Amino acid sequence: MSQPTIPSLIGETDQILARLGVEKKRYQNGTLAARSPITGEMLAEVVEASAADAADMIGRAQAAFQQWRSLPAPRRGELVRLFGEELRAHKDDLGRLVSIEAGKITSEGLGEVQEMIDICDFAVGLSRQLYGLTIASERPGHRMMETWHPLGVCGVISAFNFPVAVFSWNAAIALVCGDSVVWKPSEKTPLTALGVEALYRRAAERFGKDAPADLLMVLQGGRELGEVLVDDPRVPVVSATGSTRMGRAVGPRLAKRFARAILELGGNNAAIVCPSANLDLTLRGVAFAAIGTAGQRCTTLRRLFVHDSVYDALLPRLKAAYQSVKVGNPLEDGTLVGPLIDKAAFDNMQRALEAAIAEGGKVTGGNRFTVPGRDEAYYVHPALVEMPAQCGPVSEETFAPILYVMRYNELSEAIALQNDVGAGLSSSIFTNDLGEAETFLSVAGSDCGIANVNIGPSGAEIGGAFGGEKETGGGREAGSDAWKAYMRRATNTINYSGALPLAQGVKFDVA
Ligand code: NAD
Repeated sequence: MSQPTIPSLIGETDQILARLGVEKKRYQNGTLAARSPITGEMLAEVVEASAADAADMIGRAQAAFQQWRSLPAPRRGELVRLFGEELRAHKDDLGRLVSIEAGKITSEGLGEVQEMIDICDFAVGLSRQLYGLTIASERPGHRMMETWHPLGVCGVISAFNFPVAVFSWNAAIALVCGDSVVWKPSEKTPLTALGVEALYRRAAERFGKDAPADLLMVLQGGRELGEVLVDDPRVPVVSATGSTRMGRAVGPRLAKRFARAILELGGNNAAIVCPSANLDLTLRGVAFAAIGTAGQRCTTLRRLFVHDSVYDALLPRLKAAYQSVKVGNPLEDGTLVGPLIDKAAFDNMQRALEAAIAEGGKVTGGNRFTVPGRDEAYYVHPALVEMPAQCGPVSEETFAPILYVMRYNELSEAIALQNDVGAGLSSSIFTNDLGEAETFLSVAGSDCGIANVNIGPSGAEIGGAFGGEKETGGGREAGSDAWKAYMRRATNTINYSGALPLAQGVKFDVA
């Protein structure tokens, strides 16, 4: 399919960065190339930090923590509230920058900033809680309770596909918890990180001198800077989002120094379509989850198990939806699928499709089309692959829009297949049968961190804890009680009795 060319985004990017308040010297004549996957062009050259800069930043963040931790939590929440206000005021610009740098369609770029605003709101409320339990003591005149204290410097390592939201899930919570933050964004999305940093600075200025200058810092560069965060004993908690490959490297290094790890790694998410499913709703849920964000969400739907009795009704409709979806410039109205992030992503996709064909898969879509003058932009039609079984590339996450479809007969068989992969992030069932839905959510059901009924596996809200099991890393971020990972817990026993009874009936009387 031939396309009209896509105009350059360099000028617009420059204007957005200026409006967000990013200084030019941060993204000119540096060594890190910032590219747009929409046009494939280089937008800017961002100045990178060295390993020595990283160590220095960690030291300064530690000093900032010493000051910040003593400020009452609701006051800390005020800084996050102001940050949320800046995000609201600059949502259009930052959302557009997310689209330009990560290739998301306009509504998804804006949606990502909305997610940042939502987590700021959540964190502000949380700043007035951070509660511990009181616990019954067996000893008369004693009280037991839990106290939660800030932990220290929180290192955040993030992936390209949610270049700003994942940062905010961590930073908004860490800041109200009393931690300082050093953020290593993806080297593929440095400009959005600069934009976020500039908005944070505005909020900190409005907040005044109670916000230490080095409370939140951004470390621009590649994995070697992430490694500095991972190895530095002054960083007690690292939240790392990215591939399972990254987690395999980072996890043991953090464990070696007994640091806390919040690992948010790859997913290989599935949905099960049952005989009673509402197929209209299923079709829309599956399409958004499998095709949205060009298949580049950690929660993207990658495996679909369809009951034999509805397979032939659903598949033709799904294929028609795949063929009608508009792929192209994500900044244009009506586009639903933007580009892949880069050539490596495209090559991985083609390799997976070849491997699927070798295993007997029948592929619809998956082909690339080029945009005149934009040879470095990688646009692909989403691929639907009918597989005879769960084999070959189906068991692995390929970070591209490939949906493998398989038939099943028994729900227990579909659940077993769904769980029979390394990753354990997100999962769904489409059914109107209460027994099937509850089975899926039960102990014998999905083994994932997220299990949904009648919605796809992607598109989580920040109110719940987000994360997954097994090779997804076990970490939890965002809502619910995920904040506890950013604090340390002290169990306190207070004796107001005047006597000294010992627990478990132990006698130890000295003269
Ligand atoms: P990636 O693993 O290539 O990189 C992620 C980040 O880790 C980058 O900032 C990178 O510089 C850093 N990094 C890589 N190796 C490192 C190391 N050894 N030590 C320290 N830092 C290191 O991932 P990506 O291509 O940017 O993102 C896509 C992947 O992220 C997919 O697998 C996707 O499923 C996953 N992801 C998971 C979640 C989640 O919440 N579970 C969210 C978004 C993305």
